[in-house]
Amino acid sequence: MTVTENQPSPNLLGLDRAEMERLAEELGEPRYRGRQLFSGLYSHWDLNVDAMTDLSRRFRGGVLSQRQPAAPAIQEKHDSCDGSARYVLRFADGKAAESVYMPDGNRTTLCISSQVGCAVDCKFCFTALMGLQRNLTTGEILGQIYALAHDQGLGPRQRVNVVFMGMGEPLLNFAAVMKAFRIMSDPQGMGIPWRRITISTSGVIPGIEQLAREQLRPKLAISLNASSAGQRASLMPLSRRYPLDQLMASCRTYPLRGRERLTFEYVMIDGINDSGEDAIAVARLLRGMRAKVNLIPLNPGEELPFRPSSSNRVLAFQHVLARERVPAFIRISRGQDVRAACGQLLVRR
Ligand code: SF4
Repeated sequence: MTVTENQPSPNLLGLDRAEMERLAEELGEPRYRGRQLFSGLYSHWDLNVDAMTDLSRRFRGGVLSQRQPAAPAIQEKHDSCDGSARYVLRFADGKAAESVYMPDGNRTTLCISSQVGCAVDCKFCFTALMGLQRNLTTGEILGQIYALAHDQGLGPRQRVNVVFMGMGEPLLNFAAVMKAFRIMSDPQGMGIPWRRITISTSGVIPGIEQLAREQLRPKLAISLNASSAGQRASLMPLSRRYPLDQLMASCRTYPLRGRERLTFEYVMIDGINDSGEDAIAVARLLRGMRAKVNLIPLNPGEELPFRPSSSNRVLAFQHVLARERVPAFIRISRGQDVRAACGQLLVRR
């Protein structure tokens, strides 16, 4: 597999099936050669076009003369004592984003970024301190999976989950994220079932509504983090633009498949959003919804003005939700010791 740091030509990674068919035609080949190229590039999770010997040498040469497949370079890798790892990945223009590898028994979760930095400014998140630098392209989004899979020896036969919970708000980079999702979930592409791919949003209502209209879509998680509109607006300024009641209304009408549930993430912050009254208010917000709640004690850092809730508070909160018949799970973040945990991703300039 080729992992290229700086690439002079446009990236082949990120082209969808139709674009590869067009590329084949431009090179004087039938369209089905483009489909073979699509399958060859994505279904093996391997960037080596020269290894695709079912394609003629002439076609391979033509493709590579126009576009080189490239994943971001691994600039830093920080191994956690819990087996996870945080990667700083450098793209061709020198910008960097972070991705996290989290093994768990016979399955692995890759947490990937959709943007360099983030504009949303959640007050409990390190990434917010970077501001938004730019959106990632589809090739750069997929390239994170290729870089981590190559480094960790993962392939299409392993059970891999992908979560868009790294840097950035995925629904503010909708087109590139959804194109990446379609390539990931395509059985002739990367072959990762949609059930194993999750987009997490801070509550961008137009994006949620757009996602609801997509025929093929990943699972959806909403970063809730508050029990009232005022509390949410102070923790997540985006909530002034997309108010809590409207967010809940769009969640209530969101189409769910089979036994699917919406996931609500709730970062628990000492003395801010972790009281028994907060738990009752959260249960009221979610009443009647097919939903579950992930309770995530805040991952602290000196940059942030908050402390995590105590274990007792987290357990009490979970107890109230359970009593109100809202399934709630306590999630202990992986990779805290290497700043790989939820909300801790930050590339210093
Ligand atoms: S929590 Fe997510 S949406 Fe909020 S600032 Fe951090 S990266 Fe952006």
